[in-house]
Amino acid sequence: MQIRIDHHTCIGSGQCALTAPAVFTQDDDGYGTLVPGGTDTTAPRQVTEAALACPVQAIAVADDPPRT
Ligand code: SF4
Repeated sequence: MQIRIDHHTCIGSGQCALTAPAVFTQDDDGYGTLVPGGTDTTAPRQVTEAALACPVQAIAVADDPPRT
């Protein structure tokens, strides 16, 4: 799973960290950021819920590309 946070769009509401704390946290300025290694350990549903909870749609989620 690939997760991106658009840091130009993020307003630091913290909804992502509240919804999926194993994946998202907030930096020192309050903006959303990814927990190191968090994307490997979480349920995809939580990530999707966090993306939907973001009030400014700053989170993009995509499946990993197929392995060849
Ligand atoms: S929910 Fe969206 S706006 Fe709020 S901290 Fe996370 S990425 Fe930023």
